[in-house]
Amino acid sequence: TVRTRFAPSPTGYLHIGGARTALFSWLHARKHGGVFVLRIEDTDLERSNAESVNAILEGMAWLGLEYDEGPFYQTQRFDRYKEVVDRLLAAGNAYHCYCSREELDEMREAQRARGEKPRYDGRCRHRDAPREGVNPVVRFRNPDEGKVIVDDLIHGPIVFDNTELDDLIIARSDGTPTYNLTVVVDDMDMAITHVVRGDDHINNTPRQINILRALGATIPQYAHVAMILGEDGKKLSKRTGAASVMEYRDMGLLPEVVLNYLVRLGWSHGDQEVFSLDEMIELFDLNAVNKAASALNHQKLLWLNQHYFKNSPPEHVARHLGWHLGQRGVDPSDGPALEGVVVALRERCKTLVEMADGSVIFYRDFDTYDAKAASKNLTAATEPALRALREALVGLLVWDAAAINACVEAVAQALELGMGKVAQPLRVACTGGSVSPPIDQTLVLLGRDRTLNGIDRALR
Ligand code: GLU
Repeated sequence: TVRTRFAPSPTGYLHIGGARTALFSWLHARKHGGVFVLRIEDTDLERSNAESVNAILEGMAWLGLEYDEGPFYQTQRFDRYKEVVDRLLAAGNAYHCYCSREELDEMREAQRARGEKPRYDGRCRHRDAPREGVNPVVRFRNPDEGKVIVDDLIHGPIVFDNTELDDLIIARSDGTPTYNLTVVVDDMDMAITHVVRGDDHINNTPRQINILRALGATIPQYAHVAMILGEDGKKLSKRTGAASVMEYRDMGLLPEVVLNYLVRLGWSHGDQEVFSLDEMIELFDLNAVNKAASALNHQKLLWLNQHYFKNSPPEHVARHLGWHLGQRGVDPSDGPALEGVVVALRERCKTLVEMADGSVIFYRDFDTYDAKAASKNLTAATEPALRALREALVGLLVWDAAAINACVEAVAQALELGMGKVAQPLRVACTGGSVSPPIDQTLVLLGRDRTLNGIDRALR
């Protein structure tokens, strides 16, 4: 079976580029009925922390990238890494290195002077006695000759000459394992068949393959995914594109929009832009991922979000709108069903933040009028219309759009005014501002009490 993994280092938030890597890895597993593993690479004790772990788990959960196994924590596997280091030592595939910093500096200096690229020359391979009082590191004995071909699913074959690779440190002098060792042991133990990760790891791959070979492990397939850049083609920044997945939630995007957007960054299926999760799983293909970095396009993200607003079941959008209202301390049980609000607002909003801005009035009395709207619409001249409206509305038997509309029309006719001259003062009276969905929909959502209170407040 196909087994993939996502292996973030918990040193900050879940990065949007990391999320895309996770998505590709997840899709590949789902497509093949395989297993998706989450592994937390927390061995860098100085840079890793629990908040970052939580941030990653929260981001994964929000996106809906469910893992089948894990989370595994590398810090809980030190015994196992030590066992593997010992095994490599015993088999002669690794050795203790006692070189001091000074000695290594000297060696590199001499290499540079000869015009060579500095690299460890393997001098401890043949040292016969330990050095008194020195805690050695452990180095992997890299093959001296031959090539390593990384048959990357995205980049195609990448050839490395073993002479370019030196003897890598796999355990530090305090006994702790290094990154390349832990990744190898985990990918082996977790029987990972496809390693999907950032292309900043390409140069680690031949080293990892050599260690896997020395351990007699099966070599997984690799797929190195490019970075995501900001709109300006540079590193992501606040101005050109948020880096943290949670910022996308906070700016009011639906999680499936972020997934849909991410899958299209560097991958395409004809000119299709909108993919349901099922379609993604069916159509996604690691082989078809572009190896070049892709730039974010904020307009497209917003377009996609609104597309999902219009085409998703309202109750689904409502769940997310409820979360955003809750963030503002607004209780969605204190007003109309959220689905109705979604239907009324989804044509005019690009984000859930805009939608929440527009829906607060249905759940909480507004504090102050919009000054311009009030000075224009709540005047002595509009008072008769508001009084007539109150009288008509209070007697309505059914509080629905058709009845409300008929009321407003009747008042307009009776006073020989245009609809707008009646509806706009009513809107300002009930919502505090001049922008809301059509007046009948607005009043339906406000309900009879809030509507009549609003008119009374304006007439006071
Ligand atoms: N922990 C590494 C990172 O966050 C990823 C290692 C891997 O996927 O092999 O960059």
